[in-house]
Amino acid sequence: MTNSTLQYALAGDIGGTNIRAALVDSEGRITGRGSVDTLPERGIDDASERLTRLLKAAQATAPDGAEIAGIGVSTAGPIKPATGTYNHPPNLPSWHGKSMKGSLSESMGIPVWVGHDATLAALAETRFGDHVGAENLIYVTISTGVGGGIIANSEMVTGSSGGAGEVGHLAVRTGAYKCNVGCDGCFEGNASGPAIAKIAMERFTGEGPLAELCGGDPSKINSRMVFDAADDGDPVAQGVVDLTIENVSIGLGMLINVFNPEALVIGGGVVQGLQRHWEKLKATTIKKSLPGYGSTTPLTATRLGDDVSLLGAAQLAFRQSRRL
Ligand SMILES: [Zn+2]
Repeated sequence: MTNSTLQYALAGDIGGTNIRAALVDSEGRITGRGSVDTLPERGIDDASERLTRLLKAAQATAPDGAEIAGIGVSTAGPIKPATGTYNHPPNLPSWHGKSMKGSLSESMGIPVWVGHDATLAALAETRFGDHVGAENLIYVTISTGVGGGIIANSEMVTGSSGGAGEVGHLAVRTGAYKCNVGCDGCFEGNASGPAIAKIAMERFTGEGPLAELCGGDPSKINSRMVFDAADDGDPVAQGVVDLTIENVSIGLGMLINVFNPEALVIGGGVVQGLQRHWEKLKATTIKKSLPGYGSTTPLTATRLGDDVSLLGAAQLAFRQSRRL
């Protein structure tokens, strides 16, 4: 491919901690990266100005004559994609009811599209991940929380107010643990990083590899320690890992049954531990899905890493600009 056929988009990524921006080409190459602290308490206008500076710096790295398709912004939500208006975002307090879409497009002079980070992660997988061209794909992120993005019939599933994809609150084990919201036995309450740590703390015996890894203090246990201790033969940790695999599989099985995707991709911090048990996770997910569903749905760990948000934001801009 010659440079003349490459397209470019500017990508922004707004999380609770950092705001990032970069220039992304249609082959998924990322240049001109920049990052600042989000500092949400300073308000959305201040954040919008700082994102504008990052986007302008990224734009300046574009080759001479390059045409920028637009700006895509991936953000923590909930958010209404059409307007970019936040709806009580837990990690961006004081941004409720506000949007930076207008101020960004005014200051940049380029069309801006905004999307929810998990939905755009799913979109990124259909263009730059292991399932290029997939028309039905689910992305599940398992880390501090559990979230999801859904591509169905090649469209992003956003819901009526932008809140679709909250797969973390599917009930996978009623009567077990609740999440912070308080739902009984949900995916997030039973298989997120903090949930894995909490279950291990409750079962802590004070002996073995897990006790060594946390220095004898169960309050220091995190999910990484649980997976590492299980590798070292700790029976309590192995029990928690087995339970986690089963809980994750029940959640994934439900998604496979409802959406019949071409692929299910998992990201987030917990995926590193799960990858060491991938064959078991796949086999259990098949058991927890309807006959013929799980066995035909590839289950993969994302290989896009932290770039998944920027790539998803860029793909949003490429896609929407073609519809103008
Ligand atoms: Zn929940």
